Amino acid sequence: MTLKYSSSTVGVWLANALVVLSSTAEGGEIEFRNSVGIDTVEIMGSFWALVPLLLVLTLSTVNCYRLPKNVLPEKYTLEIITNLGDHGQNFSFDGKVWIHVLAVEPTDSITLHSVDLDIDRALTKVTVEGDEAGKNLVNGTHYVKKVNFFVIELSEKLLAGNRYVVYIPYRGNLTQGLAGYYRSSYQDRRTGETKWVAVTQFEPSDARRAFPCMDEPAMKAKFQVNLGRMEKYKSISNMPIAKTEPMKDSPGWFWDRFEESKNMSTYLVAYIVCDFEYKSAMTEGKHPVEYRIWARPDAINQTDYALEVGPKILQYYEKYFDYDYPLPKMDMIALPDFNSGAMENWGLVTYSKQSVASVIAHELAHQWFGNLVTMSWWTDLWLNEGFATYVAILGVNHVHPEWKVFDIDSTENFLILMNADSLKSSHPVSVPVRYPSDINQIFDTISYKKGMYILRMMYLFLGEDVFRKGVNQYIKDNLYGNAKQDDLWEMLTTQAHIAGALPKDLTIKVIMDTWTLQTGFPVITAVRDYEHGTATVTQKRFLADVKTDDDDEVSSSDESCWIVPLSHTNEKEVDFNNTKAKTWVACNKTETQVSEMPSADQWVIFNIKATAALRVNYDEKNWDLLTKVLNGGKHESIDVINRVALIDDVMHLAWTKDLDYKIALDMLDYLTQETEYLPWRTALSNLNVINRLLRRTLAYGDFRTFMKSLLTPLVEKMGDIKKVPNGNQAIKLHSLIVSWASRLDMGNCRTQARELFHEWMESSDPDNNNPIPQDVRSNVYCSALKYGGEEEWSFAWKRYKKANVAAEKMTLLSALGCTRETWLLYRLLDLAHKDDTDIRKQDSHTLFASIARNEVGLEIARNFFISNIKQIHDFHGVKASRLSRYLTVLGDQMFSDNELQEYMSFIEKNGEYLKQSQRSVNQSIESVMVSNKWHKAHYKNFTKLLAERV
Ligand SMILES: [Zn+2]
Repeated sequence: MTLKYSSSTVGVWLANALVVLSSTAEGGEIEFRNSVGIDTVEIMGSFWALVPLLLVLTLSTVNCYRLPKNVLPEKYTLEIITNLGDHGQNFSFDGKVWIHVLAVEPTDSITLHSVDLDIDRALTKVTVEGDEAGKNLVNGTHYVKKVNFFVIELSEKLLAGNRYVVYIPYRGNLTQGLAGYYRSSYQDRRTGETKWVAVTQFEPSDARRAFPCMDEPAMKAKFQVNLGRMEKYKSISNMPIAKTEPMKDSPGWFWDRFEESKNMSTYLVAYIVCDFEYKSAMTEGKHPVEYRIWARPDAINQTDYALEVGPKILQYYEKYFDYDYPLPKMDMIALPDFNSGAMENWGLVTYSKQSVASVIAHELAHQWFGNLVTMSWWTDLWLNEGFATYVAILGVNHVHPEWKVFDIDSTENFLILMNADSLKSSHPVSVPVRYPSDINQIFDTISYKKGMYILRMMYLFLGEDVFRKGVNQYIKDNLYGNAKQDDLWEMLTTQAHIAGALPKDLTIKVIMDTWTLQTGFPVITAVRDYEHGTATVTQKRFLADVKTDDDDEVSSSDESCWIVPLSHTNEKEVDFNNTKAKTWVACNKTETQVSEMPSADQWVIFNIKATAALRVNYDEKNWDLLTKVLNGGKHESIDVINRVALIDDVMHLAWTKDLDYKIALDMLDYLTQETEYLPWRTALSNLNVINRLLRRTLAYGDFRTFMKSLLTPLVEKMGDIKKVPNGNQAIKLHSLIVSWASRLDMGNCRTQARELFHEWMESSDPDNNNPIPQDVRSNVYCSALKYGGEEEWSFAWKRYKKANVAAEKMTLLSALGCTRETWLLYRLLDLAHKDDTDIRKQDSHTLFASIARNEVGLEIARNFFISNIKQIHDFHGVKASRLSRYLTVLGDQMFSDNELQEYMSFIEKNGEYLKQSQRSVNQSIESVMVSNKWHKAHYKNFTKLLAERV
């Protein structure tokens, strides 16, 4: 899947509080049912009092949630008739499933998954394969609701080695729940009619809502799908249609009978009934593949780009993976209602947004990594998602080399994952999971972005050739099967030893287990001996916690350690291309000595191109040398990714009190000379966190003056909103600078935004004719609505309702939340949390976030969430884990003692609604606690430093 919203949010910073949780939470089996009454006032005094409360949210008691392995599925035949509300029908489906199973051990029951399906238990049959008319072995059935089991009890034991057929007729409702087999609608722009679409979304564990099945990724089988539909619809599934025939006794109805699939996991099965149209192209090569892009009839003209890049990326991957795409066709379909950004169903990718290159590249990468070779269990989800995220960058780079995505995407992932992973409540990349709700929660920054980043790390320290050979061998050895991370480690070790890329006494497993099985990442401290030309390197876990004297004991007891491939360069040799390890920092030593340091007046940089996901701290003199070179007009002699790392490190190390804010601010001064996007993006996201912490304080005036002094040269250069520069990075920088300039009221950005917006309002055909440049639309809209009135807002609301381009619709929705008219904010929140309004369910938290980030809206959003928690929870239904996004954005805004106290008491009272968001609850509490601590530890000193500068 592609994540729709990254839970990233720059600035999830952490507290020292939740040590116990991160280790106990996975334990799972402890009985901890009774909530311990806690006095809220006391919570403030002692973190430990909070632990039982959080454990209640975290733990549960059931542990037999996995299917027994005595019976394995080999083939499913599915017959599904879809009723889409025509001629007074309801929205439902009638299904029949035949599951061919192999008994591996003798057993007197068969356990399947099923949720919310109305199974006809009287007609359910189990027979010997080949004798389906023979004796029915069913003796009875029962459900184990808590773990989604449907158990068939048998009248005689199944014999090991024999095959049987399980037959189950059932019915289900096409709900609007965005999971399982569900319905979604769109309004045809040409006729105004509401049209319905039936579509599946099964990952991670919702196939069981569409048909009874063994819904675990390692229980692979072949699928032969038959879809019954009315004549006016089309149907699509993973495989091509083998034949279409009229349905007996049902005039106007047809059966589409699809070819049998390859061996695959249930979560990748997909089918759709709709009235969409498609455009198609054939790929080139030995095994041409038909590539089709589907869209609603009134949006089919938006598919050209996807049809251009999709086949190119598919062919590139065939070469990259050294294995041809194994299916005869590839469909991609843009859907109006979709919970994830996109889903990689084998041969039938579904997505919600405009088909941007990165989404296409991600889902196509899964066709090999995930679909052809699947993780054995969700614990190794990161293998699927980290790999797809990593390979997508290569795919996009192939079709758009001019975008330089390898640098941009890697760096953005680096910044986001480092923030998320410096929380104590973070989790390892490879994470034990037990329940469906656990599974949903690990589709997060750590699995995607840290997963991606540590694959990049291996690529950089092993070299491309070794990395690719290892990956190709891993795929070939596990075709149509399942694998664990250890299988990948083994292949990479073999290739690395053959090529001499790794010392013989080191294996990839030994190195990488320290990165995938442990939470967090290290900070490396390099202290130079200037007299002898050496450096002493030590490591410890980096926690983005503000240190106080009482914390020392807790942090020094953390024994995590990493095997680090450490590269370095210096002012004398300046080589930012060799990313291979010059030194291996081991786990068993307290110090590692590095020689080859330059003379005392020259700088050193460790971790070239931020190869390893870690921070680096230096002695004061080396920081000073680096600050001098950056400020002395020679910042470009340091590689841009290392400039990013220096800025991010210096800001975070100052935050934690590992170095003084004076060093950090002195370094940031060089930004007046910086003209590249990535360093600015890094600096501004760090400063944005401080902006949030200061904007409701007396020091905000000085902070604004400081920000303006940094930004002035670039605003003078790029402050013309209409003058969009050329090149991907320059466009991003322009948009970033414009947004800060209008926030700080620099240049004449606000006036320009207002004028442009009014120009748009005066257009005779505003839905097709928008004079505002694409890249600055979110800034211009937000600024125009913030400083405008009801007239601007109503215009934007109309455009929002009419927009049929998904990205534009989202930009407008976020902008609607920028208004300062409080009654409009109340109205929006209300609309966003009711069924059948103009705001789609899966977009409601985006609007909520926009309102909460608005100075005027924060109070309104917070009160709305607190007063309506039950309603919001019920509204999201099976997707109640979305509440985590509400918590994250609220947590980011709070810092005072009162806010922290109020927030914790709210969480204590509402545990029952937050069960599916336990990780985010922990993370957001940690986040508020640390912001609170920052204020206590830094506010005085930081504001004094600001006052001295302005
Ligand atoms: Zn994915």
